[in-house]
Amino acid sequence: MPEITVPTKATAAGMDADLFDTFLDQLRRYVRDRLIPAEPEVIEANRVPDEIIGEMRDLGLFGLTTPEVYGGSDLSLTQYIRVIRELGRAAPAFRAIMAIGTGMVTTALKTVGTEAQKQEWLTRLCGGEIASFGLTEPDSGSDAAGLKTRAVRDGGDYVLNGTKRYITNSPLAGIGLIMARTSTENLPGNKHVSAFLVNMNTPGITIGKPDAKMGQRGALIADVILEDVRVPASALLGEEEGAGFAAAMKALDPGRLSVGAGALGLAERALDTGIRYATERKAFGEPIANFQLIQAMLADSEIEIYAAECMMADVTARADRGENVLRKAAAFKVFASEMCGRVVDRVVQIYGGAGYLAEYDAERFFRDARIYRIYEGTTQILQLQIAKHMLREFAAL
Ligand SMILES: Cc1cc2nc3c(=O)[nH]c(=O)nc-3n(C[C@H](O)[C@H](O)[C@H](O)COP(=O)(O)OP(=O)(O)OC[C@H]3O[C@@H](n4cnc5c(N)ncnc54)[C@H](O)[C@@H]3O)c2cc1C
Repeated sequence: MPEITVPTKATAAGMDADLFDTFLDQLRRYVRDRLIPAEPEVIEANRVPDEIIGEMRDLGLFGLTTPEVYGGSDLSLTQYIRVIRELGRAAPAFRAIMAIGTGMVTTALKTVGTEAQKQEWLTRLCGGEIASFGLTEPDSGSDAAGLKTRAVRDGGDYVLNGTKRYITNSPLAGIGLIMARTSTENLPGNKHVSAFLVNMNTPGITIGKPDAKMGQRGALIADVILEDVRVPASALLGEEEGAGFAAAMKALDPGRLSVGAGALGLAERALDTGIRYATERKAFGEPIANFQLIQAMLADSEIEIYAAECMMADVTARADRGENVLRKAAAFKVFASEMCGRVVDRVVQIYGGAGYLAEYDAERFFRDARIYRIYEGTTQILQLQIAKHMLREFAAL
């Protein structure tokens, strides 16, 4: 394993800039020399090797967003998202294994968790326990607040029943943040939705067989079936019924930034691969990189990657200044994921027939990129959200 200085926070605005640059540089080498070469193993076994999960733990990657007091390095959002972009260059499974914990679950805990909950769960997350986030159900995805999973108070406990669908990491996770309704009525502000911090080995939880997917091998998803799952009342996030939806939505901000950054990293990797191929492959007696129509595809990809890079820097800086970035995080996620789709498509085109063969990376990049436009808010749902806020703002003028 390459030597990496595990970060510790040095300033109120995140890690000291020099230390962070050193860390990022070391991480870049870890991605290049360790994670990318391990991709064939991840694809073959459809899981991240335990040894690498152990290394990621040792490198402190599971505690990047955890406050120092609970053992983490408390990176600013700008720094954290830059880390995700670097990880995004390697197979998406590496990002998935840690980012559900460092992104959505940690954010929800930091936003509404009680001190006792933070003490217990943030410490565990930071120590490297794998986390899952259970919002989607068979009959509710985009319409997240329409969930059916029930949590009923019974003395000092809650009893959970329902089914969660497509839950990333669930076959490996020790920790689950599970959204369930605590009221049969749909309440204003979606106050019928609560969130529960659940040990995934609690009796009554069954994890389905991992779903076969189009891409992103090693990033496992499965159903989570909850049958009379009894959790203590202290598992209710914020110890307040109805805080779940707001927490989940808040958690989706860094989640969407993370997806955007992952898409950006993948687009950069794919473009690097495309440039190399274009200079090596010959047609009509010369490298295809000499042809202007190939150059146009390379240049368009570079332009769009640069635009996503600027959006990422802007939205994360705004978030670190305390601005509400709901709209801009959605905009970045939409742009970066759609951009990534266009870049990987061009790279397949640059590869020609080889781009269609499983033997070459271009084909895998194309498949891996597709989900970025769907999860954590489809492009359409985010368009609606952006427009809703624009129109609301206009009406208030
Ligand atoms: C690989 C993978 C990993 C995932 N990981 C997780 C996870 O860890 N946790 C979790 O909770 N969920 C997870 N999901 C679920 C994911 O977030 C949902 O699939 C996604 O939000 C879309 O929901 P849906 O599949 O129910 O689609 P639907 O909501 O059924 O949407 C279908 C289509 O209709 C469109 N649509 C829906 N409503 C509208 C509207 N009002 N206007 C216009 N168009 C609309 C959508 O944009 C989409 O194109 C994962 C999914 C996948 C495939």
